[in-house]
Amino acid sequence: MTTKKMTAVVLRVSDLGESDKIVTLYSKQAGKVAGVAKGAKKSKKRFSNKLEIFSLLDIIYDDRGRSGLVRIVEAELLTPFISLRQNYDRYVGAVLACELIYYWSGENDADKNVFNLLVWALQSIDSGKSPKVVHIFFQIKLYTFLGYKLHLATCIKCGVAEQEGKPYVFHPGRHGLLCRNCRSSSVSREMVSLSMNTIKLLQHAHDMPMEKLERLRFSDASIREALLLFKTYGQYLLQREIMAWNFLEKT
Ligand SMILES: [Zn+2]
Repeated sequence: MTTKKMTAVVLRVSDLGESDKIVTLYSKQAGKVAGVAKGAKKSKKRFSNKLEIFSLLDIIYDDRGRSGLVRIVEAELLTPFISLRQNYDRYVGAVLACELIYYWSGENDADKNVFNLLVWALQSIDSGKSPKVVHIFFQIKLYTFLGYKLHLATCIKCGVAEQEGKPYVFHPGRHGLLCRNCRSSSVSREMVSLSMNTIKLLQHAHDMPMEKLERLRFSDASIREALLLFKTYGQYLLQREIMAWNFLEKT
């Protein structure tokens, strides 16, 4: 058994028996880690208000090797992101971010870019930015880091770019856009129509550093299109529905 340290965000928490908690974390050093916090439900001192969903923590843990669960020894709260648990719209946005990371990450596949992106998203929503707009930035970067970059510059089949007034569709299976001429030959019920405006905004968002992203302004129509695109793309890739999407759409 070796004692290790990690910086991590709490993705999920559940009770284990009378007094313990199981916590699933996404850490900078080790990717997704599930751990048991002994006595976390009772011991007020050691873990009080720390092992809550969305919290950013420094954690000391015992790595038990192959059993799957580590033992959380100590937790130090870095940022609680309290407003994410108090405001419904923020909560829903933060849950979606954590659920996406939960399903996209595995044990021992740490990715510093993904970790920083998750912390950026939680910070942004916590500071009052629109959860929907944060998700557009979060997800366009996320899919690039995961190796599923969206190809939005030209039609992936014929290479044509920017046909004003002629809508493109996004084809999840081909990770990119199809123009009006090419779409009919590749019908998929998961295709999403995108206006030129939305496509251009997404291209800018993709190329911008995160600290400048808030300069971009999305119309309500573009927000709707972009979110439908990411919902469809993510569900296609994961082959799974994520409930938090339905709640975010209704906010
Ligand atoms: Zn084409």
